Amino acid sequence: MADVVLVGDRIVGVGIGLDGDEGVDCAGALLVPGFVDCHTHVCFGPPGMDALRLPRSARVLSAVPALRTLLRLGVTTVRDAWGADAGVRLAIENGWIEGPELLLSLRQVGTTGAIGDVWAPRTGPLEFYGDPSLPDPIFDGADAGRAVVRRMVRAGADWIKVTATGSMALGIGVHDVQLTFDELAAVVDEARRRGGRRVMVHAHGARAAELAARTGAASVEHGTYLDEAAVAAMAECGTWYVPTLSVTQSDPEHAPDGAAAAHRESMRLAIDAGVRIAMGTDGPVRPHSEVLWELRHLAAAGLGAAGAFRAATIDAARLLGLADDRGELAAGKRADLVVLDGTGLDCSALEDRVRRVFHNGVEVER
Ligand SMILES: [Zn+2]
Repeated sequence: MADVVLVGDRIVGVGIGLDGDEGVDCAGALLVPGFVDCHTHVCFGPPGMDALRLPRSARVLSAVPALRTLLRLGVTTVRDAWGADAGVRLAIENGWIEGPELLLSLRQVGTTGAIGDVWAPRTGPLEFYGDPSLPDPIFDGADAGRAVVRRMVRAGADWIKVTATGSMALGIGVHDVQLTFDELAAVVDEARRRGGRRVMVHAHGARAAELAARTGAASVEHGTYLDEAAVAAMAECGTWYVPTLSVTQSDPEHAPDGAAAAHRESMRLAIDAGVRIAMGTDGPVRPHSEVLWELRHLAAAGLGAAGAFRAATIDAARLLGLADDRGELAAGKRADLVVLDGTGLDCSALEDRVRRVFHNGVEVER
């Protein structure tokens, strides 16, 4: 038992017998830092809607309930893995809509025919070209890779999202390696030149994950089919793993053949190799209301409950480069806090335990 003192948007003290003007009784509760989802999509509408084929305004407006749902479940920081533009971040910052702090990647950068190439026969055509706030993400060759990063940064990207394999949902190219070393290395280098931005790489297959590690990308997303060589490269290069286990573990019977077991095996290999792991959900593949299921999947896949909480708080903040500012209950950190009913660490029904949420020191209405 201890007290946590908040002033403004900061935690200013953690200890025994501290005092304040106003008290929040947390008896019988577990106080944890606000959760950080390193891979979600807030402009995709609910699952199954195919919001990408909706008018642009409908995609953007679908972020309003998605962001509210995430915040009410205690998710106070998210990295949008594509779909949201800088206007959504602006709307949150101005208080026009409520939501977690939003880091943007805008669109999926990739080579011709990659998932983000909306003219590919399986995915398009979708209405994205011609919107300057969501720039053309397709490139071929290292110089073009630098140009695409510059386009994304100009439009407000905090992160560069690259797709190095095909899509599991579409069942195409999951083991492909869709960029050359030089292409991905150029993207990583150009991002670094632009304010130290970093790169998140969608990679289901092991060779694409290994490429991401060797080129200095910050994180491998999904990593459904990792192998010994891939996790060794990730451990050696300090590459984070954002497994988004919800995609295969929340409804394993409907996951593509063998993917659920392969994904768990990838986790085992990654943990054994000492790869750093951060929480991401890939919502709304599963509804945003199920965001906290990811912790139970992380726990079951080998991290244990305490490890799952770390992956969803301080470790996620480390991946995002925000660990000095948030991710733990410590003096000086941002006052993003979740009060959970019950003191147990068990992650199996966290969504039912969220009692109160504080974001930037202000209680979120529930
Ligand atoms: Zn995604």
